[in-house]
Amino acid sequence: MIQIQIPEKVNKIIRTLAAAGQEAYAVGGCVRDAVLGREPADWDITTSASPKEVKALFPKTIDTGIQHGTVTVMLGREGFEVTTYRVDGVYEDCRHPKDVQFTKSLLEDLKRRDFTINAMAYNETEGLVDAFGGTEDLKQGMIRCVGDAKERFTEDALRMMRAVRFSAQLGFFLEEQTRSAIRELCGNLQKVSAERVQAELVKLLISPHPEMLKTAWETGITKVVLPEFDLCMECGQNNPHHIYSVGEHTLHALGQIRADRVLRLAVLFHDFGKPSAKTTDADGIDHFKMHPEISGRIAESILKRLKFDNETSRQVVRLVRCHDQHPALTPTGVRRAANRIGEDLFPAYLDVQRADILAQNPELQGPKLQALREVQRLYEQIIREHDCITLKQLAVGGRDLMEAGIAAGPGLGEMLRYLLELVLEDPARNEKEVLIQAALQKMQDG
Ligand code: ATP
Ligand code: MG
Repeated sequence: MIQIQIPEKVNKIIRTLAAAGQEAYAVGGCVRDAVLGREPADWDITTSASPKEVKALFPKTIDTGIQHGTVTVMLGREGFEVTTYRVDGVYEDCRHPKDVQFTKSLLEDLKRRDFTINAMAYNETEGLVDAFGGTEDLKQGMIRCVGDAKERFTEDALRMMRAVRFSAQLGFFLEEQTRSAIRELCGNLQKVSAERVQAELVKLLISPHPEMLKTAWETGITKVVLPEFDLCMECGQNNPHHIYSVGEHTLHALGQIRADRVLRLAVLFHDFGKPSAKTTDADGIDHFKMHPEISGRIAESILKRLKFDNETSRQVVRLVRCHDQHPALTPTGVRRAANRIGEDLFPAYLDVQRADILAQNPELQGPKLQALREVQRLYEQIIREHDCITLKQLAVGGRDLMEAGIAAGPGLGEMLRYLLELVLEDPARNEKEVLIQAALQKMQDG
């Protein structure tokens, strides 16, 4: 028999409800994770008690989603969502049930849940309630809909992205009918809000198996929510540096970078400009001139379409645009690159470039990785020595130049930029006197 360690506070809520003559269970994701031996992120409770009855039993509660039957029970500073057993009404717009009805049957509540592994409940007196073979599917490593897959995806299209996301999080495969139902119904994803698509895409990308984006492609999901990726899968790269199509290269690169949201997004988009930049020379070799710039533009429009915040977009787009820069392997070369890319993103740029190289032709990786390590070494030295790499660090500002007699106006910015260039070449020049002299000299020279 499967035993689960339930946190004391969760047990306390379940026991309080039981003492009042109600049923209560831990349910959903937490039971799945506990059976897998993973630490659940949060514990949800399902109960036969109505929201009103739940509220009467606990001194402090919050009406989190009262119309859907969810009340948050506060125990100290911790909150636990307690939801009344419910059945969903008729689904509208491929996403939301028109209404929900409460029920006294746990089984009815479990039936409305998306996948067998998410449709199990547990408490200490009854043990595990697994009506749809969830434990068996956990053993098999399989994502399978509760009931008829086509019906379930027709009710709520988002479940199709959830299926692929859970498979990437858990390293599971999609059961055959679940998979073919997605193929058939993926078009309905058009009706799911950008925010929800974004959330699922990010969860998939930062999972232990971001390469399972390929499953989203195979089942037709990306064609609807990220058609730019399909173009990459169709774009071959006949070039000595590459052994994969653009899309396959991207999938491999995703597996080579740590599970950070901005980094994985940057790697996802880094070559999206290649399909439109592709040219083939007389020898049949493919080239992709200017692709980082085009990728940057495409990334920007996708991030906007999926309603990402501006700061995420700024960072991801900058990394995409810079991903293919190769600084001269000198302190000056790396200072210039650090100035262009920005101190905040330079370490991330190195990470993206490493992942990119590791997904290219293995026979040509050696010297590229060596050059990258040299850039990293030079960069660390620059940071250790506090070399000036931004206008902010320059020993003079606009005011200093005006006091030295240089006229205000657009020329002032140009002059600062010129002085910064001198300092990027030689950090020893970053002294107020030296720079003012250099500025006056430049003025004379015109
Ligand atoms: P995680 O929180 O780790 O992403 P989870 O399984 O807890 O995974 P939630 O989105 O928090 O997922 O949902 C909690 C539970 O509610 C799920 O386990 C599932 O039983 C049910 N559920 C959530 N979304 C849906 C949906 N769109 N359709 C059907 N059931 C759902
Ligand atoms: Mg959850």
